[in-house]
Amino acid sequence: MSDWHSRPLEQVMKELDSRPSGLTERESAQRLERLGPNQLEPPRKPSVLARVLGQLKDPMILVLLGAAALSLAASGGEDWLDGAIILIIVLVNGVISITQEDHAQQALEELRRMSSPQAHVLREGRAKKISAAALVPGDVILLEAGDMVPADARVMECSRLQADESAMTGESVPVEKGAHDRLPEEAALGDRTNMVLSGTMITAGRGTALVVATGMDTQMGRIANLLLEDKEGDTPLQRKMGEISKSLSFLCLSVCAVMFGVGLIQGKNMLDMFLTAVSLAVAAIPEGLPAIVTIVLALGVQRMAARGAIVKKLPAVETLGCASVICSDKTGTLTQNRMTVQELWTPAGGHRRDALLAGCLCSDARLEWKAGAPTAVGDPTEGALVVAAAREGVDQEKEEQNWPRTADLPFDSGRKLMSTIHAREDGSWTVFVKGAPDILLERCVAGPRGPLSAQDRRAVLEANEAMAQKALRVIAVARRELHILPPGLEPRAVESGLTFLGLFGLMDPPRPEVKAAVARCHLAGVRPVMITGDHRATAAAVARELDIIRPGEWTVTGGELDFMPQEVLEEDIEKFAVFARVTPEHKMRIVKAWQKRGHVVAMTGDGVNDAPALKTADIGCAMGVAGTDVAKGAAHMILTDDNFSTIVSAIEEGRGIYSNIRKAIHYLLSCNIGEIFTIFAATLLDFGQMPLVPVQLLWLNLVTDSLPALALGVEPVEEGVMEEKPRDAAAGLFDQKFSFRLAWQGLMVGGLTLAAYFLGFTRLAAPGMEGAVANTMAFATLTLCQLFHAFNVRSEDRSLFAQGALSNPAMNRAFLVGMALQLSVLLVPPLQGVFAVTAMDSAQWLAVFGLAAAPIPICEITKALGRKGERGEREERSAVREKAKR
Ligand code: ATP
Repeated sequence: MSDWHSRPLEQVMKELDSRPSGLTERESAQRLERLGPNQLEPPRKPSVLARVLGQLKDPMILVLLGAAALSLAASGGEDWLDGAIILIIVLVNGVISITQEDHAQQALEELRRMSSPQAHVLREGRAKKISAAALVPGDVILLEAGDMVPADARVMECSRLQADESAMTGESVPVEKGAHDRLPEEAALGDRTNMVLSGTMITAGRGTALVVATGMDTQMGRIANLLLEDKEGDTPLQRKMGEISKSLSFLCLSVCAVMFGVGLIQGKNMLDMFLTAVSLAVAAIPEGLPAIVTIVLALGVQRMAARGAIVKKLPAVETLGCASVICSDKTGTLTQNRMTVQELWTPAGGHRRDALLAGCLCSDARLEWKAGAPTAVGDPTEGALVVAAAREGVDQEKEEQNWPRTADLPFDSGRKLMSTIHAREDGSWTVFVKGAPDILLERCVAGPRGPLSAQDRRAVLEANEAMAQKALRVIAVARRELHILPPGLEPRAVESGLTFLGLFGLMDPPRPEVKAAVARCHLAGVRPVMITGDHRATAAAVARELDIIRPGEWTVTGGELDFMPQEVLEEDIEKFAVFARVTPEHKMRIVKAWQKRGHVVAMTGDGVNDAPALKTADIGCAMGVAGTDVAKGAAHMILTDDNFSTIVSAIEEGRGIYSNIRKAIHYLLSCNIGEIFTIFAATLLDFGQMPLVPVQLLWLNLVTDSLPALALGVEPVEEGVMEEKPRDAAAGLFDQKFSFRLAWQGLMVGGLTLAAYFLGFTRLAAPGMEGAVANTMAFATLTLCQLFHAFNVRSEDRSLFAQGALSNPAMNRAFLVGMALQLSVLLVPPLQGVFAVTAMDSAQWLAVFGLAAAPIPICEITKALGRKGERGEREERSAVREKAKR
């Protein structure tokens, strides 16, 4: 049914068997049971079989299977074992990739669940927060600015409610909503102003609404199948890996083709040569690279979530490692958002009670008594006022009976004011206003209770300044009597001609862990910047306490920004450490100015108006606790604890993840280069036989690739990542140093394998066994060498032993599994047959292990030399600096 808008509210209420106080828990549980959760059905997933077959679509695998079939046919069916093994290995490989994909998918789903939407609902007359999935038709929901509408609902009552319905109707201007009793049945979706639609956003005001449809029955559910699925785009790194993988495949194929050609010229068996070439291609093409990058990213994202940062979009993980500025809100992010009133100042002739009354009436926080002490639930700033009033005997509940509230103008950080309107017995109204002192003062006039001469005005500003200097957040209160309410309750009209009542100084202590986090930022070359709606002096005092503002850095206010052309802001942006009294609109300019100077900006936000800046920032961070759904929707990352230091930890993880991905790539490519080099050199040198047969090459791919590369991907974050400058976002992955390292280490792996082959052929084999022994030794060395080499890659420049040789349990496991698999092939007779290896004697084993472990000392020595060189360079640089200073 979709004519909910055209029937009287009462009838709708009756039909849904509901009432203004909401459903009972029992009713809602029964309806949930009957109608199912309020969710869109996810698209169906392809079956496992379809996905395994999908893996076989890879052209290289098809060629390989074709080649195997061909060789099977050519051998007259005798060599069926080889073909079967190839098939099995290919299938096992397919299953491994699918498991990995599933793993990554699960990790991402888990994250999605964590950031699943919530709804405020009235059940049995009590407001509570529940998962939006648990809503049922008949529920009464409470909506306020910043909420995502969780289900289709009929507006019951509202104040200045507006919704952005562009997601449903394409209309980009927010629609004014009202509790109109009936609308024409034929009204188009966008004109049903007494309805709010699931998936749209409340941009202003507040209201209550009656849920009429949930899940697939909502308007959103109807078009769900038409909507393009919100498919995660690839991250830049994933894209780059895809490209690299492609060009490397091309390179690999060319090498294989050349090898095949040379083999033919040398008169080798064409089919053998072809099978070897294709097997090499399959083994050496880093087809798993993009998948590994995805898994490492997804696992990293899980680790970040454990530390309180939920990354919504994978690319943010990479960007985090490049972040060079964090623009952070003050209240709740740098501070605890636990406010207590420390001081109350009233003007000459004013009364404390009047100020306290205004503070507790112009507030949505509720007073609660706990163990005889007043506490409050709701906005901490307002809570502090309510508690302060209670402490001095002004009880909110009692006063509200004397001063029934008839309307309100909610606080918004643009206006920096909030007002409540209360009916008086004589038919007039009293307006209580509270807000930022400098702004509220502009709206005050001389009045009977607090005449405000120029002198008084100065006194207020001085008191304000004195409190702010002590890092207190200052709230001013005022009132006004009205006989007629201004039309439409226009804020400008309501909040003028006010009588000043007093100033509250609120203390909000910094979060204890923030100071250390700020220090880590400075060390890591990341600039912490404070952006706050609070007063300049308050902001500066807190910033000084936290070491955010340092000598030579400035504070600037939103008012000053209004007079500053964007070019000037861009020019000077690096001088500013604190932006005070800004509105969300300024945030956008600030982000853009930093970006213009080449910075990668992380920016926090919580309100509806923060959304554009969050989107524009390189890493928009929404508050998980205090943030609105709109901010969360626009952000790249959600901070579950609203804490500044969580951003810093996320940056650290981001750097760690990037470096781990680099390690996984380093490992895979250097090993692949080793494999190609071995076979290619053997072909050119014309050994008469290949050092490795096709099954061995494929096996190698299975044993040495995925597990160690994944283990490198979960390396603990290396010490010292937060002592380097942020990575340049534009710099490529393959700098000269990295490419050089890949190349020589590949040659090392290949060289050691060839050495094993030679040793076997010329020295260690019994007569007549040369070929078989040399082949076995080369196969064993190449595999084990890669397993050992994985340990070297754990750090680019630190010694493995300084790092703790066994400090990555995943790597230890990968090594043991690889070793066990390889040893069983080398030692268990039936497997020896399958993989064409012969039993080795102790001298041969010794040679194999000696050569396979050789990369460890070799790399240790080169790392030590590198460190020495760097130390020399560093010393040289600092000597030059010293000289320059002198
Ligand atoms: P941040 O951006 O760091 O979170 P903030 O929370 O201090 O800063 P706003 O919420 O925009 O910034 O508040 C700005 C000013 O508005 C405060 O300094 C205070 O004077 C006033 N203010 C804050 N909350 C309220 C409220 N609930 N009612 C009335 N005035 C308020």
